[in-house]
Amino acid sequence: VQTVLVVEDEAFTRQLVCVALGTAGYEVTAVGSAAAALDALRTVKPDIAILDVGLPDMTGWQLCERLRADGDLPVLFLSAHARDIDIVRGLRVGADDYLVKPFSPAVLIARVEAVLRRATQRPVSRAVQLPGLTIDVGRATVERDRAQVALTASELRILAALSQEPGTVLDARQLALATQGYDLPRGEASRLIKVHISNLRQKLEPDPKRPSYILTVRGIGYRLNVATNGTNA
Ligand code: CA
Repeated sequence: VQTVLVVEDEAFTRQLVCVALGTAGYEVTAVGSAAAALDALRTVKPDIAILDVGLPDMTGWQLCERLRADGDLPVLFLSAHARDIDIVRGLRVGADDYLVKPFSPAVLIARVEAVLRRATQRPVSRAVQLPGLTIDVGRATVERDRAQVALTASELRILAALSQEPGTVLDARQLALATQGYDLPRGEASRLIKVHISNLRQKLEPDPKRPSYILTVRGIGYRLNVATNGTNA
């Protein structure tokens, strides 16, 4: 049985989430604040956390950063806002997925399942060598100039997809499928992937405004730039 930690201060939503998860066979620990969540984590070892963004004592993002510092517990955010800035923020702190209120219980369960599935399936891929950059997706490591770069699980999945056939162009929907584990409408997919690619470039590119590793193929998608040298893949 997999355990879910639900952190939501709004009683109605918390109950909705708990009933949906309970019906689907999950064990649920539900709390109403970040402090109570950190407390619960001393005794409960959840497989996934569902975090409300607007918590009374800290933001869900801050809580996510605290959780990330302690390990790689998968996190699904619940938010009242669908604004881009919220999504960017959530993804930057390493959220695995994002659900905007109101949501249907069926969609919630599907997302939880997808996140858990992804968390247990490490992507299989060969190591790819670019000038100054080593991507070893199988071992979940990326090194830039021999220094380890910390990537979120979603960012790693994008690199894994792009490294599968280095140089092949993938569109936003293919990349979204790779990161999320389910198909997204084109608009939503390109918005999501744009955020991830931008974060990846900030972390990897010497000059994120003039990317040399992850190239945009206008109107189509993205590809790894393997043309400048041979790849040892
Ligand atoms: Ca709230």
